[in-house]
Amino acid sequence: MTETEGVIKYQLQDIDITEINAWRSIMHRLAVIGQSRDKYAGYGYGNISQRLSGNSGQFLISGTQTGRPESLTRKDYCIIEHADLEANEITSRGPCKPSSEALTHTALYQRDPAIENAIHGHCPEIWRQTAALALPHSAENVPYGTPEMAEAVQSLLQMHGFRQSGLFTMLGHEDGVMAFADTMAAAGREMIDCLAQALVIAQRCKANYNSRFII
Ligand SMILES: [Zn+2]
Repeated sequence: MTETEGVIKYQLQDIDITEINAWRSIMHRLAVIGQSRDKYAGYGYGNISQRLSGNSGQFLISGTQTGRPESLTRKDYCIIEHADLEANEITSRGPCKPSSEALTHTALYQRDPAIENAIHGHCPEIWRQTAALALPHSAENVPYGTPEMAEAVQSLLQMHGFRQSGLFTMLGHEDGVMAFADTMAAAGREMIDCLAQALVIAQRCKANYNSRFII
C-alpha cells in the first residue's frame, strides 16, 4: 500500500482475499451467486465485498460477470477507490470492472462505519418470503444499481435501525437480497439463516396446502 496526500492506494496483490473468496465459494454452492443458462438471460449474478482497513471508504468487490467459476482468483476482484452516490460515479482499480451494483455496497459502507462486509445475492426462496418473514425491503419501483436504490438502502438502514448487520430484499430486482455485517462470516450467516427460515415457511405452506386434501 502507498499513501499519497493522505489517501491510501491499495494494491490488489497486497490484499488477503482468502476469507472473502471462501465465503464467495459458499454463496456459489448455494447458487446465491452464480451464472446459469436458464436464469437472468444467462448473465452472472451476485457479488461480494469487503471494506479495506482505514476509514477511506474503499472496498474490495468481486467484478462484474464473475458468477460462473466455483472459486475466484485475484484477477476477478477490483478495488472501489471512490464512489459518489449522487453523481452515480464509481472509480475502481484492478484487472476487472465492478458492476453498477457496487453503488448499493457503497451505500451500506457510507451509511455505517461498523459495516465491513456485504453480499448481494439472488435467492428466490428468501425473496418470495419477504412478506412472510417481515423482511425489510426496497420498493418494487426502485431498480437496482441506481442512485435511487442507494438512497432507498440508506433510508432502510435508518428506518429499521439496523446496527452493523442485517439483511433486506429488493423487490425491484428479481430475487435480489443483500446481507451485511461487521465480519465476512456474520454476513454469510445472515444469508444462510434467512434462507433456512424461508425454507421452513415454504414447507409449512406446502404442508397446509396438502392437509386440505387429507381432511
Ligand atoms: Zn443482482
